[in-house]
Amino acid sequence: MNEPTIFEKIIAKEIPAAVVYEDDHTLAFLDVNPVSLGHTLVIPKVHYRNLLDMEDEDRNHLFATVQKVSKAIIKSGMAAGVNTVINNEPEAGQVVFHTHVHVIPRHKDDNASTWVHVSNYDVGQAPEIAQKIKEAVSA
Ligand code: AMP
Repeated sequence: MNEPTIFEKIIAKEIPAAVVYEDDHTLAFLDVNPVSLGHTLVIPKVHYRNLLDMEDEDRNHLFATVQKVSKAIIKSGMAAGVNTVINNEPEAGQVVFHTHVHVIPRHKDDNASTWVHVSNYDVGQAPEIAQKIKEAVSA
């Protein structure tokens, strides 16, 4: 059995968190190292490493809470829009290995961009790559 992650300890109330929402399936709390004020993490109570291994029902509960919390962040005046971000696997920036969705409050001209564009397609390359992914989706 693996050592519980820090988020499982938050679910078990072994360590504190600034909780913004909780139900039977999910928990949402403030990120301790926010991109912007109100940056919230939404997690399932069932343990999964990340989005890639989630069962349908738990994934659906998770995204219902992501939508609820995103709307609440805007309604509360904390943001004009939000980025919803999931880092899956270390190469994609995942550090805590219990599924979590970042809900990042955004404001006009806040310079808090989460994207850096470092690639361009060569001529004819985009259809080839699309085909490769298309085949894997239906495999
Ligand atoms: P990721 O890189 O997607 O795995 O993000 C992990 C996030 O968890 C980071 O943004 C951290 O700031 C955040 N984090 C780590 N420990 C805690 C904690 N105890 N309470 C709240 N957020 C945390």
